[in-house]
Amino acid sequence: MLIDTHCHLTDNYVSGDLDDVLTRAAAAGVGMIICPTANPADIPGAIKIAETHNNIFATIGIHPEYAGVDATQYLTDAVLTHPRVVGVGEIGLDYHCGNENRTAQIKLFEQQLELAKKYALPVAVHTRDAEDDTIAILNSDVRGVMHCFTSSWDLAKIMLDRGFYFSASGILTFKNAGEIRETFAKIPIDRIVIETDSPYCAPVPHRGNVCEPAFVADTARVLAQIKNLHLDELAPILAENTQRLYPKCHAVL
Ligand SMILES: [Zn+2]
Repeated sequence: MLIDTHCHLTDNYVSGDLDDVLTRAAAAGVGMIICPTANPADIPGAIKIAETHNNIFATIGIHPEYAGVDATQYLTDAVLTHPRVVGVGEIGLDYHCGNENRTAQIKLFEQQLELAKKYALPVAVHTRDAEDDTIAILNSDVRGVMHCFTSSWDLAKIMLDRGFYFSASGILTFKNAGEIRETFAKIPIDRIVIETDSPYCAPVPHRGNVCEPAFVADTARVLAQIKNLHLDELAPILAENTQRLYPKCHAVL
């Protein structure tokens, strides 16, 4: 069984097509999905999907794109203690389009890290062109996963020491992603999980299409090659890693 640990099921691309998307995922061997939020408006929808599908869980967080929002308004006690909410994410920093709102991004990130600590939940971290601040802000009080990891081996080493996991997305399969494949070759197998980040970053051979959870199998195949394993050997390792990363998922595995 494969697990898509980061799939935006609340995105419009599946709004009218969720049953078909999930049927195709099951046919591809995807037995479990974790649905994060980025936009606070998607929080009720993500929880609803997790409540109504026994193999789908949610992580709840506000993406740096929404810097300026007060996270405590949305990441309430009821949300963070919900049995289907297994983590806080996706949260983090993104300076790809500039860092004019750096202070607001850091505030939102720190606010959510505090909540993750308070509720003892793992975090799903988004970091893009913001390695120094990410290293400075994430400390050993929190644990979690670097989602859609495409950053340097230097960052990977630091976050490995801090006990983090690393999630490989479809980008791992891209022709020009040799450096990322080298980084994943060096990351210990017991610290890796996989994701689609649907609807973004569809893996080869689906590039250019809307990404969906069934495609996590293509990323898994490339990861298996990198790690010199058969897919059948890799899948249970990834499932165990996911369970250690998100202990509240235990019931399904
Ligand atoms: Zn995402």
